[in-house]
Amino acid sequence: MLKNYIDGEWRASSSSAGLDVENPSTGELLARVPLSTKEDVDRAVSAASAAFKEWKRVPASRRVRPLWKLVQLLRDNEDAIARILVQEMGKSLPDAAAEMKRSIENAETACAMPVLQQGDKMIECGTGIDGEVMRLPMGVFGMIAPFNFPAMVPFWFFPYAIATGNTFVLKPSELVPLTMAKITEYIHEAGFPKGVFNLVNGDRNAGEALVENPEVKGISFVGSTPVCRHIMQGCARHGKRCQAMGRAKNHLVAMPDAKFDDMLRNMITSCFGCAGQRCMASSVIVAVGEKMYRNVCTSFVAEAKKVVVANPLDPAVAGEPVVMGPVISAKAKAFIGKMIEAGVQEGAKLVLDGRGLSVPGCENGHFIGPTVFTEVKPGSTLHRTEIFGPVVAIIKADTLDEAIGIINDGEYGNGASIYTQNGFWARKFKLDVDAGMIGINVGIPAPVAQLPFGGMKASLMSDIKTQGKAIIDFYTTSKVVTERYLDE
Ligand code: NAD
Repeated sequence: MLKNYIDGEWRASSSSAGLDVENPSTGELLARVPLSTKEDVDRAVSAASAAFKEWKRVPASRRVRPLWKLVQLLRDNEDAIARILVQEMGKSLPDAAAEMKRSIENAETACAMPVLQQGDKMIECGTGIDGEVMRLPMGVFGMIAPFNFPAMVPFWFFPYAIATGNTFVLKPSELVPLTMAKITEYIHEAGFPKGVFNLVNGDRNAGEALVENPEVKGISFVGSTPVCRHIMQGCARHGKRCQAMGRAKNHLVAMPDAKFDDMLRNMITSCFGCAGQRCMASSVIVAVGEKMYRNVCTSFVAEAKKVVVANPLDPAVAGEPVVMGPVISAKAKAFIGKMIEAGVQEGAKLVLDGRGLSVPGCENGHFIGPTVFTEVKPGSTLHRTEIFGPVVAIIKADTLDEAIGIINDGEYGNGASIYTQNGFWARKFKLDVDAGMIGINVGIPAPVAQLPFGGMKASLMSDIKTQGKAIIDFYTTSKVVTERYLDE
């Protein structure tokens, strides 16, 4: 059974209940994850709260020293961590390596906190009066993570929280607890004071205990939209800050002048990387004009057939350009199958069916091959539902305005991309599409760590995005001092 990391020590959960953690490629049992209790969570929060008293007084330039050390430890061990990530999550090794790089990039960005956290001062804001804005840490922050980026999503938050002088309690996804358990060993080695970073494993009950604990000043949640709503309501009830990043249904728009071959390669990676389980994965292609629609339908299916579906750790596929692993669980696979059936029932044309695929030697894995529908009706279940699997809907539009309307009618607004060389079309797209992250000839427009990450509508239900300068506002409260000294 895995342990929790509380107050600088590995401790067993107070509960003996647990869940199996399986390798989704093989069905092999990797570990047992404890279903930690409210008592475990409260103990972690108390440790974090006690650590905050000292940590907030440590100068920012010294607070980031262990983070620098962590960056180095992660660099030295990133390949080994990436392999653990593949084992428990199932994405390809290059995808896991890229995830590690972005995680490290976030820790590096947070190392700039001595500059990023600086306040403002206005001398003579009134006659003989100075005004000053101070950005101060607040206390304990919590984070509840999803399964699809076991390392990177926690790194969107905790390096910034700690570097601003707060302390932290992380609850990883119960489906993929091993990556952060390994990384926590390096966090320990990096030399943060006890209680500054804590990790509690568990399911929704541990998440809810974090939301309900009165000492927790704010929660960052990333996961499905219904849980986002629930977390936001909980945070509002308990009067705490909240970041809530939810589901997505991302569109790629192919304009008639797009550079076709580059676009096609880019679309395949966007749609089938991580078996479609990225919040920035695209699952709808809108082709503008009859000719582009016909070309995309034919060529995209031909390219999709070349995607190799396999256990990503099988040495036989190491040299393949695009490897797609399994989806996370039998439950996820069953849901994706149900959505494919819904598409068929709605009258969309199933031109590539990934169901029924078997990977030799991995008969207990949760594999599903690339799946493509054409003639999809805008607004249908297939079009509007987040399927979170390798299922792509291709829709035809006559104009860019129609394509933008198709995107904006949806519930979600995480990412959207356009393929074009035409500046007018690109500008119109970036201004008029209701999505928080826009790509122009970029199929996965996930911003680098120095820039804010987050969607709109039901993809981001709170005000503040993560990463970059945006997150400093989440992790600090400002005090504004107006001061005057009278003549001697
Ligand atoms: P999920 O909502 O099932 O679970 C996410 C986390 O919430 C887990 O740690 C889980 O234990 C916890 N949880 C579940 N119910 C809870 C409750 N009632 N109270 C407190 N905690 C609770 O999501 P998932 O399946 O792990 O992740 C996939 C989802 O995450 C997809 O919808 C994907 O689009 C989304 N996602 C979004 C972004 C983004 O940037 N918007 C990024 C990554 C993933």
